Amino acid sequence: MGKVYITGAGPGDPELLTVKAFKIIQNADVILYDRLINEEILNYRKKEAILIYVGKEDGKHTIPQQEINQLLYDYALQYDVVVRLKGGDPFVFGRGGEECLFLAERGIEFEVIPGVTSAISVPAYAGIPVTHRGIASSFRVVTGHEAPDKENSSIDWESMKANETIVFLMGLHNIEKIMDKLIQIGKNPKTPVAVIHAGTTENQLVIVGEIDNISELAKDVPTPALIVIGDVVKLRDKINWFDAKLLKC
Ligand code: SAH
Repeated sequence: MGKVYITGAGPGDPELLTVKAFKIIQNADVILYDRLINEEILNYRKKEAILIYVGKEDGKHTIPQQEINQLLYDYALQYDVVVRLKGGDPFVFGRGGEECLFLAERGIEFEVIPGVTSAISVPAYAGIPVTHRGIASSFRVVTGHEAPDKENSSIDWESMKANETIVFLMGLHNIEKIMDKLIQIGKNPKTPVAVIHAGTTENQLVIVGEIDNISELAKDVPTPALIVIGDVVKLRDKINWFDAKLLKC
C-alpha cells in the first residue's frame, strides 16, 4: 500500500515551491493536481509519472470532491507515492482536511506538505505586508465564496469592524456585496482595498481603491484574484518591489 502526500504547490511563482514539495514531485508515481497550480512545476516529475487533472473550471467542478477522495484512495492501493498537488497551502480553503479524513478512515497513510499560501504571499508580491507595526496587529483570511446576504452565515461580519487586515479569497464574484456589507457593519468606506490577480506571476495585476469604489474599479479583473482590505494597502506605494522588478525584465 502506498502513501498520499497532500501537498501545497505555492501561489504561482514556481520558485515558491517548498524543497519538500519539490522532492516529492520528483518521486511521485501519480500526481493529482488542481487548476491553480503553476504547471511548470509538473516538469519536475519522473517521465513515467501519471498525471491527473482534477481542477475545477471557474465555478463548475470537473470532478466532485467525493470522487477525488476516492481516486486518492484507489491510487494509494496501487502505487507507492501519490501526490495531491493543490494551489497555495492545502489547508487554506483547499479541502485538504477532508482528503486527510477520508484517507484516515480507510487506513491509508498520508503526509501533509504545507505550501506558501496566496493569502499572505500574493499581498507580499503586491507590496502589501498583511501586518505592520502601528498599522495592523492582526489579519484574517475569509472565504468570499459565501454571499454576505446568506442567512445563518458562518462568517462573523460584525467583528470585521476591527482595524485589522482582511483577505478575501474566492471573493471576486461577490465583491460588490462584500463591500456593501462592510459599509453596512460600519467600516469606513474610505478604507483602502487592493484586488490582486495572478499574484506572484508575471501576469500579476493590482488594482487599488477604497471600499466604496473598488467594485467599479476592479469590475474587469479576471480570476484568480484576491481582495486585501486595510490601511496596510497604502504601504504598497513604497514597498511595491515586484512590479518594479517585472518592469526591468
Ligand atoms: N489553498 C489556496 C487557496 C484556495 S482558494 C491557498 O492557500 O492559496 C482559491 C482562491 O485563492 C482564489 O479564488 C483566489 O482568491 C486565491 N488565489 C490563489 N492563487 C492566487 C494568485 N496567484 N493570485 C490571486 N489570488 C489567488
